Amino acid sequence: MNAGPHLGFAMEIIIADVLTRYNRAQWNNVFLLTGADEHGSKIYNKAKELGKTTIQMLDEHVALFKELEDSLSVTPDDFIRTTDKVRHWPTAQSIWQKLEAKGDIYKKKYSGLYCEGCEVFMPEKDLDPEGNCPIHHKKPTLLEEENYFFRLSKYEEQLKKLIASDTVKIIPEFRKNEILSFLSEGLNDVSFSRSADKMPWGVPVPGDETQVMYVWCDALTNYLSGIGYSFDQEKFARYYPTYLHVIGKDISRFHAIIYMAMLLSADMETSKNILVHGFVTSNGEKMSKSLGNVVVPEDVISVYGSDALRYFITVWGGGVGEDIDYTQTGFHNLYNSGLVNGLGNIANRTSTLFCKYYPDGVSTDAFVLDAEIHVAIISAYTLYTSSLETFDLRTGYTAVSTLIDLANKYFDEQKPWTIKDDPEKLRGILLNLVEILYHVTILVAPFLPETAEKMREIFSLTDSKLGDFSSDAEFRLTTENKALKLLTVPLLFEKIV
Ligand SMILES: [Zn+2]
Repeated sequence: MNAGPHLGFAMEIIIADVLTRYNRAQWNNVFLLTGADEHGSKIYNKAKELGKTTIQMLDEHVALFKELEDSLSVTPDDFIRTTDKVRHWPTAQSIWQKLEAKGDIYKKKYSGLYCEGCEVFMPEKDLDPEGNCPIHHKKPTLLEEENYFFRLSKYEEQLKKLIASDTVKIIPEFRKNEILSFLSEGLNDVSFSRSADKMPWGVPVPGDETQVMYVWCDALTNYLSGIGYSFDQEKFARYYPTYLHVIGKDISRFHAIIYMAMLLSADMETSKNILVHGFVTSNGEKMSKSLGNVVVPEDVISVYGSDALRYFITVWGGGVGEDIDYTQTGFHNLYNSGLVNGLGNIANRTSTLFCKYYPDGVSTDAFVLDAEIHVAIISAYTLYTSSLETFDLRTGYTAVSTLIDLANKYFDEQKPWTIKDDPEKLRGILLNLVEILYHVTILVAPFLPETAEKMREIFSLTDSKLGDFSSDAEFRLTTENKALKLLTVPLLFEKIV
C-alpha cells in the first residue's frame, strides 16, 4: 500500500463483491473483508520522501481505497489495517507464538541479495542477466542479518497433498499447476523477521524487541484479525475457515504456500479456495506512469457510472484468471452494445409500452408464460448458479445476457407496438417480457447493483432474492402481483458518444 488505487485493485474488489453479493442473495452466511498491508521499509521510506509521517500517508491512502470501494458499490463488512494495534497486532503476535511453540520458528544468520522494491531476498537464479531484479530493474543489495526463520520446508508434502486434492482449491487450474510445479522444486524456509533498527515500521516480534515481523506473519494474519481472531471469538467461529481469497497472480505463492503452511503449523483449518486473478493492462501494456497509460477508476466511473466498470471487469477478457486489457474504444463499445443497446434498451422499450397501454396497471389473472421462455429462464438459473459457485463471473453473466437477448428478440418478433385490436394477445406479450425482466433483475443484481435497484423500482419487484427461487413453479407473475403496474423512469443507461 504505497500508492493510490488503480484499475487492478478495482478489478479485485469488484470480483470479490460480485461473489459476495451472489452469496448474500443465496442467503449464505458471508463476510467480505478488505484491508491494507501497511508495514515494510518501502512504505516507511516513501513517507519520508514525501515529508509525511508514515501513518499520515497511510491514512490518506486508506481513505482513497475506501472512497473507491464506495464509488464502485463494493460492500465490505470490514476493512482491516495491519497498523491496527488493537485488532490486528494481537492476532499477528498470537499466531507467531503458536508457530514458535510448534518449534517452527528459529533464529539464523543470513546473508543474501535483497530487493527493497520486492521486499524479498532474491536467489541469484531469479535475477536478470545484468544481475538486477527483473521487476524493479535495480541491483539488489547484499544484506547480512540475524533473523527468525519459519520452517516452511517441513510442510512441503502436506501442502502438495492439500493442493493436489483441491482441499485448498486454487482457481484457475493453470495457477494450481504452477503452484504444484513450484512445490515440486522443493521449499526453503523463509525469513520471518527483520532487525528493528533497519526496519522500524512493523509489528514487534513477541519476546524480542530487536526484531519486527517480516510481511508474512504480519500481513497474512490480517485475514484472521479481520474476522475477530483476537477480539470476537463468536464472530471468528462464524466465519472461519476462510471460504475464498481473491488475490493477484503476483502473490499467489504467498497465499497458497506460506499462509497455508502457517495455518498448518498453528493447527488451524486451511482456506477452502484461492481465486487468482490476472492484471489489468492498458492498450496491451503494463500500466505505468512513465508510459502514461495508467487508467484511474474514478475517471471511468465519472463518465460511465460504476455499474459500467463492474460490467467491463465481469465480461471483458479471456476468462477466469486471465489478464484483461483496457482500451477506451473497447470499453466504450462494450458499454453501448451490452448496456445501452442490450439491457437498457429492452427495459426501456418494455416499460414504456407497458405504461402507455396500462397506465393504471393490468391484471395478471390467467396469464400463461410462453413455454420457450419458461425453459430459457430455468436454464439461465442453472448456468448462473453453477458458474458462480465455481467463481466464473463471465459465464455467470452469460446466463443474464442470454435472457436479455431473448427478451429483445421476442420484442422484435412479436411487435407489440403494432397490435391494435387484440388486447389479450398484447397483454400476454407484455407480461412475458415483464416476467423475463423480473428474472434479469434478480440475476443481474450481484453484477450491476445500481441498475438492479432501478429495475426493481420499474418492475415493482420488492422482495425476491435469488435464494427464493427454488423451483420452476416460482414465477413471479403467477404467484404475486395480481394487478401489475410499472413505473416510467429515465433511461437505465445513457448513450455516450
Ligand atoms: Zn524487485
